Amino acid sequence: MTNSLYQPVYLEEKLEEIGKSGRLDYRSRSLPTWCPGCGYYSMTEGVTDALNQLGIKKHNTVIVSGIGCASRFPFFMETYGFHTLHGRVLPVATGIRLANDDLTVIAVGGDGDGFAIGGGHIPHVARRNVNITYLLFDNGIYGLTKGQVSPTSAIDFNTTTSPMGNLDRPLNPLMMLLSYGAGWVGQAYAGRPHHLAQLIAEAIAHRGFSYLHIISPCVTFDKTDKTYNNLDISVRDLPEDHDSGDILAAMEQAFHTSRPALGIYYVEERPTLTENMDEIAHRARKLSASE
Ligand code: SF4
Ligand code: MG
Repeated sequence: MTNSLYQPVYLEEKLEEIGKSGRLDYRSRSLPTWCPGCGYYSMTEGVTDALNQLGIKKHNTVIVSGIGCASRFPFFMETYGFHTLHGRVLPVATGIRLANDDLTVIAVGGDGDGFAIGGGHIPHVARRNVNITYLLFDNGIYGLTKGQVSPTSAIDFNTTTSPMGNLDRPLNPLMMLLSYGAGWVGQAYAGRPHHLAQLIAEAIAHRGFSYLHIISPCVTFDKTDKTYNNLDISVRDLPEDHDSGDILAAMEQAFHTSRPALGIYYVEERPTLTENMDEIAHRARKLSASE
């Protein structure tokens, strides 16, 4: 596949096209400050496209982030936003969801924010099925702090804190989320922005916790591993006959980390945290009425 970065893009034509689509309505006047070519640009493209497709109003949307390059995202959007503490995106997003069940709540962050300091929050949001969408942009490095090894850095990857090569085994986020009980798990690639936008729309439309893992190059601090050239070759689609209701089939696909598969791995419909809390309140009212 030809790298989309090498296709000529004419800004005025692109702006006219985006303006007509209505997607610019979701954008603030702050321009993204990511490095040219960073995979995170697909975030603004993907989220605005998805919200527009689903007809979700900006005043009904809250975008929550932690700390890191990906977490700058709320500034670039005209929706409500909350740039929280390092690793604390999910507790804050949960609080927003519990305060107002009518909102669309989107959590965004990177691999360091999500799987290092914030790693303890993910299982509980997943197993309790909090009705939020978590977009995790994984570049396998700490970009904002200038290129340190992260929980998803590849073995032998050289960074400023692993100059002799990383010897720590990387996490397998998809396997983790599947085993934590996430009700919607998918994987996308920043180099395929239209597919990414479609998956973001599907993740938001899911009622319950949805986790989209997005492989996203850090063009400044990673010149050898998760580059567009390497990923264009290694990514593949999930098999056409993949059954997204079969968790073992999803885990088998998640196991093949050297050939990351893109698409929807697993979907399960079950009550959300809010619905379970309503049920508990109902039982408590019934009990007190019978006393
Ligand atoms: Fe993107 Fe890396 Fe630049 Fe951060 S440092 S904005 S992740 S390219
Ligand atoms: Mg990172």
